[in-house]
Amino acid sequence: MRTFVVIVGLYCATVAASLAAEETKAGAASAEIQTQKSQSAMTPAAALERLKEGNRRFVANTSKRRDWSAHVVATASGQFPFAAVLGCMDSRAPIEIVFDQGIGDVFGIRVAGNVINEDELGSLEYAVKVGTKLIVVLGHTSCGAVKGAIDGVQLGNLTGLLTKIHPAVAAAGCNNSKDDACVTKVAEMNVRQAVREIREKSPDLAHYLDDGKVKLVGAMYDIATGKVTFLDN
Ligand SMILES: [Zn+2]
Repeated sequence: MRTFVVIVGLYCATVAASLAAEETKAGAASAEIQTQKSQSAMTPAAALERLKEGNRRFVANTSKRRDWSAHVVATASGQFPFAAVLGCMDSRAPIEIVFDQGIGDVFGIRVAGNVINEDELGSLEYAVKVGTKLIVVLGHTSCGAVKGAIDGVQLGNLTGLLTKIHPAVAAAGCNNSKDDACVTKVAEMNVRQAVREIREKSPDLAHYLDDGKVKLVGAMYDIATGKVTFLDN
């Protein structure tokens, strides 16, 4: 009888500990998930700071440990991302990882050379319509699309995409794709150009920007250090 009581007691203690652990896990996960409330309470400046903090963690190799399964469950019924990032398709510049963000935190739009087109503008207009407070255009060092534009590469449908970067090549005043500094300069000009185009080609977005409800910034990601540097407007 006594053995039975001890076993039942141990079992109950184990179940209780397990439930407590689950609750803690769920609590920690839910605290990090963007909700309509947290999204609407966030200012554009706070959204920018959140990405800066995330990149600082990434660079320091102290990215948050996340319960991805809990994130999947918690975001299944809706999403309330606080930022939208237009970045390059480069496999070395994954948006959520370099900004240390979780599922449901940011809208990610990626295309070679982070060039602007109507589909992306439409995507950004949607992001802002559903409450996103910050738009980031993220270029990066050693960008293959930028190098291709400098070299005048012609390849199927890529030719038209690279044409969009040609004005940045002209603005940078250099044309050597083997020169890292030149490639970085063109990439930065390309980001600045995209930032201008977003405002010029989307009256909807310009309206939100002028009202101060949304912030638009350019940034450069360094593939050698992991650091994101935000550009002055
Ligand atoms: Zn690239």
